Amino acid sequence: MKELNTLPEKTVERLSQYRRALLITYASGKSNIFSHEIAHLLHITPVQVRRDIMLMGYSGTLRRGYDVKELIAKIGEIIDNKASQKVCVIGVGNLGRAIISYFSGKRTKLTIVAAFDINPEKVDKVYAGVHCYSYDRMQEIIKKEKISIGIITTPAENAAKVSESLVIAGIKGVLNFTPSSLNVSPHVYLEEYDMITSLEKIAYFVKKGNTK
Ligand code: NAD
Repeated sequence: MKELNTLPEKTVERLSQYRRALLITYASGKSNIFSHEIAHLLHITPVQVRRDIMLMGYSGTLRRGYDVKELIAKIGEIIDNKASQKVCVIGVGNLGRAIISYFSGKRTKLTIVAAFDINPEKVDKVYAGVHCYSYDRMQEIIKKEKISIGIITTPAENAAKVSESLVIAGIKGVLNFTPSSLNVSPHVYLEEYDMITSLEKIAYFVKKGNTK
């Protein structure tokens, strides 16, 4: 396949959402789908769907739309790494455990291979098949296992130290679930998800009566 330029972040996000919707569609026995049907599933416009899929260098036919199986495979070629990527979770509390359980056995290209915590009661326990190591061993295990992505689910006050340590260990991407905004070096891809901000934004628009 021809090497594509880097896609816009939002397109990559939507491609991941398309694939999830398409996998459900395919499991229900549907083999072809039109852009307006994908758009309807994700509450976006058909133009947006067509544009994203065109950016991947893929197209459907006017009469039958997209081949669902082929489209799932094309999205995989674009957004997945050839080799599977190893992920670790730092902070095995309520959220960390939920993430580990959610991912357990689900993704083939993204695998949570280790967890880390400072609480001795959690160290050397196994959560949904994932070993929890002492935080002191984080650098060693990340290097040994060639882990490339770290998910931070520690209390906010510890997030900055954890992310510094992740970067030193050679991590390439960080997903920060804590409300503390992080600063990482430019060669590390950082994504932050602050649930409270999202909820407060929704509450603001609900209060304004502006719900689209
Ligand atoms: P929690 O207190 O249940 O778990 C935090 C875990 O991190 C504990 O096991 C603790 O021992 C560990 N920890 C603390 N410092 C550490 C360090 N330096 N290295 C490794 N482990 C360390 O908290 P939680 O509810 O799971 O929330 C975790 C983070 O996610 C918080 O920052 C919280 O604001 C955020 N968050 C949580 C939720 C949720 O639904 N629980 C939702 C959104 C955001």
